[in-house]
Amino acid sequence: MKPAAFRYFAPRTLDAALDLLAEHGEEGKVLAGGQSLVPAMNFRLARPANLIDINRIEALDYVREEGGTLCIGALARHVRFEAPAAGGALGIFLPRVARHIAHLPIRVRGTFAGSLAHADPASEWCLVAATLDAELIIASRRGTRSLRPDGYFVTALTTALEPDELLTEVRLPVLGADWHAGFAEFSRRTGDYALAMCAALLRIEDGRVVEARIGVGGATDRPLRIAAAEQAVIGSEGGPDVRREAGNIAAEGIEPLEDIQAGAEFRRDLVRAMVERALAQACTR
Ligand code: FAD
Repeated sequence: MKPAAFRYFAPRTLDAALDLLAEHGEEGKVLAGGQSLVPAMNFRLARPANLIDINRIEALDYVREEGGTLCIGALARHVRFEAPAAGGALGIFLPRVARHIAHLPIRVRGTFAGSLAHADPASEWCLVAATLDAELIIASRRGTRSLRPDGYFVTALTTALEPDELLTEVRLPVLGADWHAGFAEFSRRTGDYALAMCAALLRIEDGRVVEARIGVGGATDRPLRIAAAEQAVIGSEGGPDVRREAGNIAAEGIEPLEDIQAGAEFRRDLVRAMVERALAQACTR
């Protein structure tokens, strides 16, 4: 199918884009990589009257490290993260995650921020943002605000973004050398959306876990950090028994999605396995 008719705008500055968003409100939509929006328009699941293409706003195309924070502009494409974008554990972690996102042609166009704006429960970057408690910088003509994932992700495909707002930057903490990262995902074929995935980040001192961030995605309506699983590994050496216990805690602590792809109990079992695998990877030094 072809999309319904729309007016097309290609602003060259952030100010001009925010003016257009303010003018068109509910009738306007940001176009970033187009890898989710354009298929939705072609199926007429989305019918924006005004498309505001941000691809010509060069000032939004950056990934830079600033004082312990990795700042990701709205036009940074998935492919940028296949090579280390930061030092330390974050630089190892992001490439491990990036290669699970779709296929190369999609990774070349799709953006990190676009994934967060779209908020598919199976989005790898949404899981990364939730696990790392990213800071999300949101701009509109009314001003700039920042949100954390807790207040940002509402449910599947729904965020706290208002129609006149643009997600301009995502900020991730650059993890020190004592952090260790693991990521595990299950999808039916390479490049398919995840049925379940886990991101595990552990700070290990003298062989013991002193801080933990364990996030689960794909299996629930939005990415979740599992505090009880984190507590289970803190203080331990991260051995197999502890990893299994954390997997069980995570599996029992979620309300899995049930859809045509997978039943709830299958997803619960996958979460159990993905948490164990991601922790095992993080504990392998
Ligand atoms: P767009 O498609 O341009 O926009 C998506 C939505 O976000 C729109 O509503 C748009 O208005 C809004 N938006 C975009 N940027 C902003 C912004 N800065 N501020 C405010 N609103 C904004 N994704 C995965 O995570 N994992 C996968 O395994 C995966 N597999 C895929 C397989 C296929 C076959 C395809 C076609 C896509 C797949 N995707 C997958 C989706 C892909 O990663 C998209 O790139 C991503 O979901 C959206 O990013 P985008 O830049 O393309 O956004």
